[in-house]
Amino acid sequence: VFGENRKNSMGVATDIESEWTPFADKVAQYMTDSQWHAAPLVNGETLNGDAQPVLSPYNRSLQVGTLAFASEQHASQALDIAAESFASWAALKAEARGEYLLKLADKLEENLPELVALCHREAGKTIHDSIDEVREAVDFLRYYPVEATTMMDSPESFTHFTGESRTAVYSGRGVFTCISPWNFPLAIFIGQVAAALVAGNTVVAKPAEQTSLIAYRAIQLLLETGIPAGVVHLLPGKGAVVGNALTRDERIAGVAFTGSTPTAQRINQSLAQRDAEPVPLIAETGGQNAMIVDSTALPEQVVRDVLRSAFASAGQRCSALRVLYVQEDIAERVITLIRGAMSELSVGEPSLLSTDVGPVIDEMAQRKLKAHIAEMDRHAEKVASVKLDASCDNGTFVAPTAFEIDSISRLDQEHFGPILHILRYKADELDQIIDQINQTGFGLTLGVHSRNEGTYRHIDKRARVGNCYINRDQVGAMVGVQPFGGQGLSGTGPKAGGPHYLHRFAKVEVQA
Ligand code: GLU
Repeated sequence: VFGENRKNSMGVATDIESEWTPFADKVAQYMTDSQWHAAPLVNGETLNGDAQPVLSPYNRSLQVGTLAFASEQHASQALDIAAESFASWAALKAEARGEYLLKLADKLEENLPELVALCHREAGKTIHDSIDEVREAVDFLRYYPVEATTMMDSPESFTHFTGESRTAVYSGRGVFTCISPWNFPLAIFIGQVAAALVAGNTVVAKPAEQTSLIAYRAIQLLLETGIPAGVVHLLPGKGAVVGNALTRDERIAGVAFTGSTPTAQRINQSLAQRDAEPVPLIAETGGQNAMIVDSTALPEQVVRDVLRSAFASAGQRCSALRVLYVQEDIAERVITLIRGAMSELSVGEPSLLSTDVGPVIDEMAQRKLKAHIAEMDRHAEKVASVKLDASCDNGTFVAPTAFEIDSISRLDQEHFGPILHILRYKADELDQIIDQINQTGFGLTLGVHSRNEGTYRHIDKRARVGNCYINRDQVGAMVGVQPFGGQGLSGTGPKAGGPHYLHRFAKVEVQA
């Protein structure tokens, strides 16, 4: 459904089937043979602790591996070493720091089948999404070193008619805390760590509890590049323990966070309460993302892009489409097509190439999403709901569902899963709906489908969002091409995968 052809949805073209089969066999072998383990990794050493089983979202009786959480003491130990290791790491040229990241990029590619298997098992991602995940991590690892070298190794000079000359010199800030989400367990995790490291900081990283195995594997591979062990530490654990310890400590020089808006607000409070210098918080948070479809749009293209934007990755992208506004003149046709296309979605075992939608991350997410569906059932008209078959019984699946609602104000928060809300609007209400979208306070992605250039340019200008996409889907920002990040409740900026991201990880002095 998401691609050009049923068997190879999500863009795996038929002519690469011959390459795909041996790769798929290797992935399958990792899935059958491997158990993974994660634990605190401090100064290159794996610390022991009480290990608990990690279960797969698509089959809750399938054990993927074991995980030992970090304690506050581990966090403190890591902070000590990261602080001691800062000066020598910061003294290297950005290019030299980048070398380690480039080596890691190669290692991720060499280990692609294992990482795809792990991502699929631990995060419940489809095979397509798992491949995209590793690719995006590789892109970050190859992009930031280039940016850092330009910014830091060839400092910008300003000459003035007074005859003076000044140079802007960038350097690392100190120890950076990186707190990453489960929905991009490798790409965002590695993106944050790579940016912080290459800009000259040392790093203490706390991955999402649900996806610590893949983060651990990535740091193991990073250590194999020969990077000094003191500069990067992994602390898997609970937000309330490890997250707190890593955001209230006076040694922290900055925090990179991707996750929910309320958690970003708590981190901000924690940083503000320290009796220490104010430090940057780089937060990429949620969205109440809309798409506006006017009567000049091509319905078939709209439907394909709506389905991918709302339901790919089981709607678990902060960029995902939540509220579709369709101009009333074509609404009936678009809604009919959406209903038809949804009936073709295949939900279930994510290792099958034909699967479009896998599970949501865990029971808590499943419960919240089902409660929202039950609430919508009371107040809104159901457009379509995909019937789940028996293969979904053991996993945390949520049926992709679409509702027609009467107002965006029905949605008081982001619902992070495969649920689409549809609203009809009249031609003369366009500005009003853009204002309603702005009034949610979120500003992450916006999709626009229109063949009228005046209309889409007007929408793009009036809407306050980080990333506006015209006549395409609104997920899957590409590193270096669509720098990604929102405004308002959706985040502080700067945009990940863009030329300004590293500036916030560094400090600048203008020297004579
Ligand atoms: N960068 C991703 C995208 O464009 C979303 C990142 C996220 O969900 O945090 O789809």
